Amino acid sequence: MNLLYKSTRNSDKTVTASEAILKGLADDGGLFVPESIPRLDVTMDELKNMTYQETAYAVMKQFLTDFTEEELKHCIDSAYDSKFDTEVIAPLVKVEDTYHLELFHGATIAFKDMALSILPHLLTTAAKKNHVTNDIVILTATSGDTGKAALAGFADVPGTRIIVFYPKGGVSRVQELQMVTQKGDNTSVVAIHGNFDNAQSGVKALFEDKELEKELAGAGYQFSSANSINIGRLVPQVVYYVYAYAKLLENEEITSGEEINVTVPTGNFGNILAAYYAKQMGVPIAKLICASNENKVLFDFFRTGVYDKNREFILTSSPSMDILISSNLERLIYTIAGRDAQKNAELMAQLREKGTYEITPEMKERLGDFVGGYATEEETAATIRTTYEKTGYVMDTHTAVAAYVCAQYRKDSGDDKKCLVASTASPYKFIHSVMSAIDVKYADVDEFELIDELSRISGTEIPNAIEEIRNADIRHTRECEAGDMKAAVKEILGV
Ligand SMILES: *Cc1c(COP(=O)(O)O)cnc(C)c1O
Repeated sequence: MNLLYKSTRNSDKTVTASEAILKGLADDGGLFVPESIPRLDVTMDELKNMTYQETAYAVMKQFLTDFTEEELKHCIDSAYDSKFDTEVIAPLVKVEDTYHLELFHGATIAFKDMALSILPHLLTTAAKKNHVTNDIVILTATSGDTGKAALAGFADVPGTRIIVFYPKGGVSRVQELQMVTQKGDNTSVVAIHGNFDNAQSGVKALFEDKELEKELAGAGYQFSSANSINIGRLVPQVVYYVYAYAKLLENEEITSGEEINVTVPTGNFGNILAAYYAKQMGVPIAKLICASNENKVLFDFFRTGVYDKNREFILTSSPSMDILISSNLERLIYTIAGRDAQKNAELMAQLREKGTYEITPEMKERLGDFVGGYATEEETAATIRTTYEKTGYVMDTHTAVAAYVCAQYRKDSGDDKKCLVASTASPYKFIHSVMSAIDVKYADVDEFELIDELSRISGTEIPNAIEEIRNADIRHTRECEAGDMKAAVKEILGV
């Protein structure tokens, strides 16, 4: 059966999965959604014994139906290999009475690796299927994390080039070092003199530049985006919820059919949406608990039915969740509107024009699977500290937001189902906040000096990604004015 995709803002046109991956965003500005969520066609008993890669195939073949078995398995095997520091890819760790699914064992030690290590292969396969002969040029503006994960994913993937722009002085020292030491002949990193918004609008302008598009086509190139709204980033994330449930079953932590709750530290709403899709595929998940930091737009939304981004933007210790517009939420809005593209488009227009919208009471009733919660900066730090003191386990700030919200939900609701927490980053990645939470004496210590200390107190090995930046050569030194990004791209590509 061939599963087709539609835009969340227009119900007339359908595209194949590979077309949706190639396009990223629909022409009307909407997000691609499958016409229906497919069911798993293997049983949990079968999944129990599968590797991560086998599980990935069982899940992804249901969504990406125009990929052949050979193509999809090639993508999966090229992505989930020795770039990960553990064969199981996503280990499940029991911490007191919750289960942490560690999604940070890839190249950049954060969960975006789970999708960005496979997206380049899905994209080049999709290009071939659709007879695109140009090389794909990925342009990305980054405030730190996504840029590195995209660079690592696309490095040395044949048929691709990647150019990442970041604001000089606007990312952490570790983040900058991670990017400027990136290997791969097809990778380029440019520091712009400006802020993240300048970088992002610069990239957007390049995507919309028809003249540049022609020039690039003449030289055998075309732009694409590794943006988190690409269906090629969403589908690979469904896998790890299926995998986690099967592993809980295999380890006899749960019995067959037993429902669990899932808590996800949320920013752009991609990861938790993947969990929602996993539930619809047939995984026995009861509540999807959406954890926010002090930028609690989503918490307010689930409580009131009003989405309102008109508020102060707060810089927190979980920066990857400092987001006021969760772009993937649009897929949920479309679903609870009864897959009514026009209704969804209206609400999104209100968001664009007024920064706020309110869903109808019928829509709100369909949100029963979700619970919102949030953690303050103090609650986040206290969670890291007390968990460490009780168990010796050290978690990162984003994961701590989720762990706090999970425990709070259990206390407030009396719902004592087993709970899975998506652990989205290694504590080494946000080492300064993590170590200061454990003991204030670390607050003034240099990040690099804390690395060995964290290894010592947690009894964990220093990840490769961290070792690398301590020793690696700087390979990228290009800088430019925010207004000169087009010239930089042309120079890099030699057009
Ligand atoms: C991106 C990110 C998140 C948020 O994930 P979304 O899919 O955007 O909701 C949470 N934690 C970390 C460490 C991240 O990098």
